[in-house]
Amino acid sequence: MNSYIESTSFFGNVSAEELATKYGTPLYVYNERILRNSMRTVSKLIQGYRYVANYSMKANSNLSILKIVNEEGLNADAMSEGEIRLLMKAGFSTDRIFFVPNNVSSQEMQFAIDNGILVSLDSLDQLERYGNLDRGGRCAIRINPGVGAGHHSKVVTAGKNTKFAISRDDIDEALEIAARHELTIVGINQHVGSLFMDPEPFLQAVSNLLSVAQRFGRLEFIDFGGGYGVPYHKLDNEQSFDFENFEVKFKALVDEFVSTVGYTPLFKTEPGRYVCCEGGVLLGRVHATKDNAGRKYAGTDIGMNVLARPAIYDAWHDIEVIRNSEIITDGDLEKVTLVGNICETGDIIADDRLLPKIKTEDLVCVLDAGAYGYSMSSNYNCRLRPAEVLITENGDDKLIRRRENYDDLFSSFEL
Ligand SMILES: *Cc1c(COP(=O)(O)O)cnc(C)c1O
Repeated sequence: MNSYIESTSFFGNVSAEELATKYGTPLYVYNERILRNSMRTVSKLIQGYRYVANYSMKANSNLSILKIVNEEGLNADAMSEGEIRLLMKAGFSTDRIFFVPNNVSSQEMQFAIDNGILVSLDSLDQLERYGNLDRGGRCAIRINPGVGAGHHSKVVTAGKNTKFAISRDDIDEALEIAARHELTIVGINQHVGSLFMDPEPFLQAVSNLLSVAQRFGRLEFIDFGGGYGVPYHKLDNEQSFDFENFEVKFKALVDEFVSTVGYTPLFKTEPGRYVCCEGGVLLGRVHATKDNAGRKYAGTDIGMNVLARPAIYDAWHDIEVIRNSEIITDGDLEKVTLVGNICETGDIIADDRLLPKIKTEDLVCVLDAGAYGYSMSSNYNCRLRPAEVLITENGDDKLIRRRENYDDLFSSFEL
């Protein structure tokens, strides 16, 4: 069996067992070298044009990781006031933050306006609301390119079945609203959905957005959204997203647009998952094994409150099993259902999965947990959120978020 942990020296100078003993489990562990490599890949698209990658921080909002994103020169997208506040704390200047919210209050829009942060409006109604707050100001609008993509219907954010964006049929009305409030629409953005490995729907959406762009005057920027996938079946040799091939086709569309309109805006994309997914894993401890009606279960401390993706999206995460600091890559395999410690039947990390025979006290390492892992975690069942540790570029471990404690759990109650 392949081992991603071994082939990448994921834990640097420390072993999984040392990390688990020192910080406790469950534990999110990130590898700085892998994170920075992913950031560099998405920073270099569409060569020859002014281009910037906006990190979509909902994928992972750890402050230390945001600082690394900042150091690597990416800009950032925020979905909420909380995300904006964190980005500012991480050192992003407000001209490098793009607010792309959905159904927000005037108060939240005003917070962005007061801080000089550009806002993208995603409905005619929200555009009207914005115009009332910032007459004569600048804004962007989010367009539905008419085509969506993604690994699950819950993450397809364009096309017919979605709450997001302004439809292409409503652009004239959007322009009217903007004119009435003397707003300048300086950019347009889109987001087709999350986790595509086949670039074709994205490229179709790029092409659609570029034709929509011709209905506007000179735009400062055109933003094509995020969604680049990562290989969640990497232990079965699933290959990474083919950026090389993708870029050739992407650039051809952009070339054609620029020669048609005769000006060159700034181009953007908004990667979230790609930036941090493969640079993060989740370690958990097996506290019990059992057979129930002929099915073997391995019960860990990785509940659905810690990693929600399998329960929400039926998502697949590769698993490695570690015993006494050794990653088990040979020996007998058996089918096992890996579960957590939450009182829900759906609290499953890996369903009926062929894995090395698991024993109590083994560690399990859930791969590709750096995106939509911690950021979607909760206190369900009054469980505490785990710690996060960074393996720095020199291979040492550094705590970047402590485990929650029971004071944190009680802190918001009014007694
Ligand atoms: C979530 C989101 C992204 C990032 O999506 P990924 O699949 O993580 O790359 C980009 N843009 C918008 C508007 C989003 O909501």
